[in-house]
Amino acid sequence: MNFHQMTMVQLAEQLRNKSVSSVELTQYFLDRMAQFDGQINSYITQTPDLALAQAAVADARRAAGEDGLLLGMPLAHKDIFCTKDVITTCASKMLANFKAPYNATVVEKLNAAGMVTLGKVNMDEFAMGSTTENSAFGVTRNPWSLDAVPGGSSGGSAAALAAGLAPVATGTDTGGSIRQPAAFCGVTGIKPTYGSVSRYGMIAYASSLDQGGPMAKTAEDCAHLLSAMAGFDERDSTCAEGARPDYVAGLNDSVKGLRIGLPKEYFGEGLSAEVKAATMAVAAELEKQGAVLVEVSLPNTSAAMPAYYVIAPAEASSNLSRYDGVRFGHRCDNPKDLKDMYTRSRSEGFGAEVKRRIMVGAYVLSAGYYDAYYLKAQRVRRLIKQDFVNAFDQCDVILGPVAPTPAWKLGEKTADPTAMYLADIYTIPVNLAGLPAIALPAGFSGGLPVGVQLIGNYFSEPKLLNVAHQYQQATQHHIQMPAAFA
Ligand code: GLN
Repeated sequence: MNFHQMTMVQLAEQLRNKSVSSVELTQYFLDRMAQFDGQINSYITQTPDLALAQAAVADARRAAGEDGLLLGMPLAHKDIFCTKDVITTCASKMLANFKAPYNATVVEKLNAAGMVTLGKVNMDEFAMGSTTENSAFGVTRNPWSLDAVPGGSSGGSAAALAAGLAPVATGTDTGGSIRQPAAFCGVTGIKPTYGSVSRYGMIAYASSLDQGGPMAKTAEDCAHLLSAMAGFDERDSTCAEGARPDYVAGLNDSVKGLRIGLPKEYFGEGLSAEVKAATMAVAAELEKQGAVLVEVSLPNTSAAMPAYYVIAPAEASSNLSRYDGVRFGHRCDNPKDLKDMYTRSRSEGFGAEVKRRIMVGAYVLSAGYYDAYYLKAQRVRRLIKQDFVNAFDQCDVILGPVAPTPAWKLGEKTADPTAMYLADIYTIPVNLAGLPAIALPAGFSGGLPVGVQLIGNYFSEPKLLNVAHQYQQATQHHIQMPAAFA
């Protein structure tokens, strides 16, 4: 087996028994990036010098007796996490030259664990999108089919993993951006409970929804990565206090007696027959292992999309006001006065989707409309949360599809933003409620991966990782790789 076919846990064993050094492993992935990334454009910035320097330090730490599982392990960071000395673009022309003066807490923690940064990966501009087509640095292609989208917004992370151009990656999920690209590219990713992972240095899109998390081949890899990413951070005022649960200890628990809820609203109109069949096959496998299936209801599911597209743009319009060419971001040439400078800097710096959301956000927050839209959306959000609270009276975890279909073709939905928004119907409610959810590969449809998600109660990540791991112990979907990159 080659290094890019191994899981992170397998690679860690190679490092531990000294079959390979971190410098060698890092060089292996840098070589693959040089060879293959031209085809998929998963990286915005490759950082070979930094990577090899970090790898050398990791090797020295290991030689001195240290033995962490992440020590010397290469990874790719979504280009939304601030990295000191390396450009952080958020896939926007606005930040094309932005060098943060500090590392995001997530980056800081993974650096401290000895991880090696291969580079910064592509995404939708400011994480707004579902396909990575809204990047100022070109689209990323799906390694399973080069004319299909990789999903988004963490499409670069998912595509890099699927093509074997990084063993693990970071992502962020505001309305599905870890889970949906994971599903489209056949990898595993977990969106943690809101507040589990620090948002400090993670460029804000919609602050009450944004949450960083790990992406990898397996749930087991995600568990190890999340252990290093999560934790209280006094620099993020919404970060949950107290210790995090042990994400790894329960991975091998049996799922016997576990009640799995199948929400009837997640299996209705719009769901493709193949995605439905793959989801039911996951349910059947878990049932075989002793889990019990129960039908549950999330009656307000259809209201999630409209509520999200009020709340997320409202927060975005506020968060993105800082990019004015003075405090942050691109500044236009030769402004004729102050107003011209603001107008042209923002007009030139932002792409179309970001502008659309800023306009919607400013509108729903404006005097006279605030009660009608923003306040109403917050009330709907409360109802959606209550749906989940009620469902978790009847089940331990919820199982459903990630997206109604597998990846679609590049360009297919770019002219119709509403059609694109609707494809997030199963992921968005989870963010509105602040719950954790893991996406994992569940098979194929027409040669493209299909993913399912397990949604859990607050801080139940150990249970989600456990169930996903048990499923992956019994199945092979998560270790498949596209033939062109195998
Ligand atoms: N596709 C959704 C959006 O465009 C979710 C994106 C995300 O999770 N960052 O807002």
